[in-house]
Amino acid sequence: MNKPLVFKTITDFQNYRAELKGSVGFVPTMGALHAGHASLIQKSRLENEFTVLSIFVNPTQFNDPKDLEKYPRTFEADYELAAQNGVSAIFYPEFADMYPDNYKYSVTENSYSKILCGATRPGHFDGVLSVVMKLFNIVRPNKAYFGEKDFQQLHLIQEMTKAFFMPLTVVPVQTLREESGLAMSSRNTRLSSEGKHKAALIYKTITEAKTADQAKDFLTDRGFKIDYLQDVDGRRFVAAFLEGVRLIDNVSIP
Ligand code: AMP
Repeated sequence: MNKPLVFKTITDFQNYRAELKGSVGFVPTMGALHAGHASLIQKSRLENEFTVLSIFVNPTQFNDPKDLEKYPRTFEADYELAAQNGVSAIFYPEFADMYPDNYKYSVTENSYSKILCGATRPGHFDGVLSVVMKLFNIVRPNKAYFGEKDFQQLHLIQEMTKAFFMPLTVVPVQTLREESGLAMSSRNTRLSSEGKHKAALIYKTITEAKTADQAKDFLTDRGFKIDYLQDVDGRRFVAAFLEGVRLIDNVSIP
């Protein structure tokens, strides 16, 4: 089995990066890896000589301190998944290294980041864009892989790379789902088995309902607390709480 190298400091990673000859694919994550992350890694492996994975639970994108505290941290299992999927190196930094300025500087987007997840999670996408820009500057990938499960995030990152002339390609990867249709997510581990079963209604409902409002009423009646359920530019987006866990999904609509 391939043994990925682990770099905890930026300098150590940069020394390694400077020696790499060949294309680098990059998969940024917050850890608690599952098959959805593995599908990003596999796509990167097909398209690049080296695949770098980052694991960093980024505090600046959490607006709820409890959500940050409860975020699963499973480095040993993550290392195994990375090894099994042929990751070359894991970048695993600490907050102080990533934010030497203590977040005085940030990247801001003033339009698309304010709707959907941005409407109820103020500052969330500034945190995401800031950390992704930092990671891109450190890793200097040729291609970076992001899941359509976080479609708004993917779109904002694509637009950021264009706005700042960043020399890399952002590659979208389709959402990997459980057999039930539930989008795989690190947060699913916080659901009871009954909750996991029920959560499959989210995908089924946004796919089958004629209108967003009908989907919203249907899920509300079944005990979901809807943050938003909206159609935007040919996609249907949802964020819903179940058992106190915030779940998101989106599908393209005909
Ligand atoms: P996260 O660790 O949740 O920040 O996710 C890291 C990357 O994996 C992001 O680009 C996500 O969109 C992507 N991802 C998470 N879940 C899935 C999934 N079920 N299918 C495809 N990509 C995913």
